[in-house]
Amino acid sequence: MRFPLPLTAKIAAYIIGKKLRKIEKFATVLQLEPLHTCNLTCTGCGRIREYSTSIKDVMPLADCLGAAEECGAPMISICGGEPLIYPKIEELVDGLLGQGRIVYLCTNATAMRKKMRDYLKSEYGSLLPADCTLPISDCRLQGEKRTRHEDLERKVETLLREDLITAKQGEEIRAARPPKPAKGATSTMPLAIAPNQFMYWNVHLDGLERTHDLIVEREGVFKEAVLAIRMAKVLGYQVATNTTVYRETDPQEIEQMFAFLGSLGVDGHTISPGYDYDAAKVDMMQRLDRQPEDFFLTREMTREKFANAVEWGERYPIFGTPTYLEFLAGRRDLTCSAWAIPTRNVRGWKGPCYLMTDGHYATYNELLGKTDWNKLGVVNGEARDPRCENCMVHCGYEPTASLGLQAEKGDMWKNIKFNFGRKPVARGGEQVHAFNGVSAGQGHLTGRKEEAVALQP
Ligand code: SF4
Ligand code: SF4
Repeated sequence: MRFPLPLTAKIAAYIIGKKLRKIEKFATVLQLEPLHTCNLTCTGCGRIREYSTSIKDVMPLADCLGAAEECGAPMISICGGEPLIYPKIEELVDGLLGQGRIVYLCTNATAMRKKMRDYLKSEYGSLLPADCTLPISDCRLQGEKRTRHEDLERKVETLLREDLITAKQGEEIRAARPPKPAKGATSTMPLAIAPNQFMYWNVHLDGLERTHDLIVEREGVFKEAVLAIRMAKVLGYQVATNTTVYRETDPQEIEQMFAFLGSLGVDGHTISPGYDYDAAKVDMMQRLDRQPEDFFLTREMTREKFANAVEWGERYPIFGTPTYLEFLAGRRDLTCSAWAIPTRNVRGWKGPCYLMTDGHYATYNELLGKTDWNKLGVVNGEARDPRCENCMVHCGYEPTASLGLQAEKGDMWKNIKFNFGRKPVARGGEQVHAFNGVSAGQGHLTGRKEEAVALQP
């Protein structure tokens, strides 16, 4: 199966429930942006530019959890900004899982290993007595606790052997104990992000080492992401990746990346074309002195880049439905259903979609009611809004496919096969030359800043 059965069952039950009640528009995935602060400045990222005036604002935890309750989406993609900078990220993940949601924790992976070390500390701290200094060979725990301790030790040994943690970090993990309790209180370890069948780390990766570091404008980010993925798999987390394809992306490299990620044990991938939406376009011209058409994809170029997308879906565990992949490859047409993947951020419910901003609304229902959905998307080759002309993104068109809104004969069988058939296993990843060099300096920013500054009046 492409997804674990409980996860597929949860989503299916939700959609069937909506359809039985004849609810036409509803949220399937909430893009929750608790903050827009980020430690990277990726080329093509509109968020850190569009929200530069509120970049330090964060959504209160209660608002984040309330947004999920309000729209009812079974899946929450926590994005941003970099969500691991959010001060209450552990509480947010815990709260959403407690609501019965499926959580995709999107990250550039630079702080992921730190969060997983925190998880290990919380495991040791909650398992071992406060005064215990014994090595595992002398462990006096019995039964289930003993088994847990041995399992943790095996994992820490693997992490040390594979250089995923340092010897000092290993010692700190093993020595973790709850802080001294206040008088009359019981001391517990701080909350941590633990492996969970309803949670995925969703790691941003736009290519192999050179391409990815070029796009994120910093060397070493690819290497760190690979180490974090490996560590996550040792510890039993589910890991997905998300990739945006740009004009300079080589489709063959994307295939190599999927094969390589398969060899690391990654569970699945989302992939989407990058197009020149306003916020990213302005940054491209002002900061990098480049023309958007040099970097982003037009509709035609998307179809060329994704010509083999359907075959990718058969060979690799891509999360996009076959219908959406056919659309990307230019084999069929779909219209946009951006209402199904709404965005909630520090300013409210962003409308009309993840990419375009005409306003922010107080509630999801207000976003639904005040947006003229018939004026968006591309229908029969005609852009109903000129800003939609080159857009074929996942968050606009995947819901049309997965909800069967423009179903054709044979789609049902394809979807059953996609959801319940054998999950593709990527092959040949061990031979991929993934660490294929770094971009000089800071990727797309290299040698550009001064030029761009010099060109400004
Ligand atoms: S990691 Fe990159 S794409 Fe993601 S928010 Fe930060 S700058 Fe934007
Ligand atoms: S096609 Fe849909 S997702 Fe894309 S820009 Fe238009 S409204 Fe947004």
